[in-house]
Amino acid sequence: HIAPLEALDGASQERRGAVLMFRDLTAARRLEHMRVDFVANASHELRTPLASVLGFIETLQGPARDDAKARERFLAIMREQARRMSRLIDDLLSLSRIEMHAHVQPATTVDLLAIVRHMIDTLSPLAAESGVTIALDAPEGPIEVKGDRDELLRVFENLIENAVKYGQSGQRVEVTVTTSHDRPGGRDEVEVAVRDFGPGIPPEHLPRLTERFYRVSATDSRQKGGTGLGLAIVKHIVNRHRGHLLIDSTFNEGATFRVQLPLAASTMRELPVVAPPP
Ligand code: ADP
Repeated sequence: HIAPLEALDGASQERRGAVLMFRDLTAARRLEHMRVDFVANASHELRTPLASVLGFIETLQGPARDDAKARERFLAIMREQARRMSRLIDDLLSLSRIEMHAHVQPATTVDLLAIVRHMIDTLSPLAAESGVTIALDAPEGPIEVKGDRDELLRVFENLIENAVKYGQSGQRVEVTVTTSHDRPGGRDEVEVAVRDFGPGIPPEHLPRLTERFYRVSATDSRQKGGTGLGLAIVKHIVNRHRGHLLIDSTFNEGATFRVQLPLAASTMRELPVVAPPP
């Protein structure tokens, strides 16, 4: 898009310069499509459980009014559907909150290892119910990064929950923490890898896995209580922390999700040194 030539010096009516305005319309159009798709998907995801709840209410007010057994069964389904809507709304709100602060890097220093340990302790009892043990292999802590504690807890909650949910029951989930001081580019980083031994992800799905509402199997995800937003949230949080999310998967052998974040100490060293005033 090129703006018309503008006279910059109005008083003398002389043309002294020109203003060229370039706007990438393809990117703008793609963004607009994504926004429209997102609203359509979110509405659809909410409408399905809502329609089911409304249907059961009508049945309970009509044909099943005096059937105590049916009432119990229908109420249990309605509770589950209401929970699903509530989880979805929570995830939508989290996503928009994170997006609002997308360009602000968190300023507080947190111990990433303590966060990972805390999440493993929180999820272990639930994992044990499906026969999954979560093993941690990590160096001595603390491992400090600039980060938002709640957001980082959310990252590992989503990744470990997915590993338990989609990994084979009776298997283990391995969480490995490593630090690196010699990566190319000189960035000192910490990597947390969450590995499971489940069916893995077919390679054609990998590039789109972190898109909102993208699922390898919609029925599988819904049955397991998924909203389809977990990995989109993880990706946004990791980006805001100037980190990387890498996914490796060999189909039928499992999946590994790696989160790499800059170490706080190196972040400090990267700051320009300002000479004191003479
Ligand atoms: P959901 O709420 O559906 O779990 P996510 O965004 O967390 O949404 O994950 C997106 C999809 O990626 C899931 O529906 C599932 O198909 C796939 N997925 C995520 N983690 C794993 C894993 N560890 N193993 C296999 N598939 C996975």
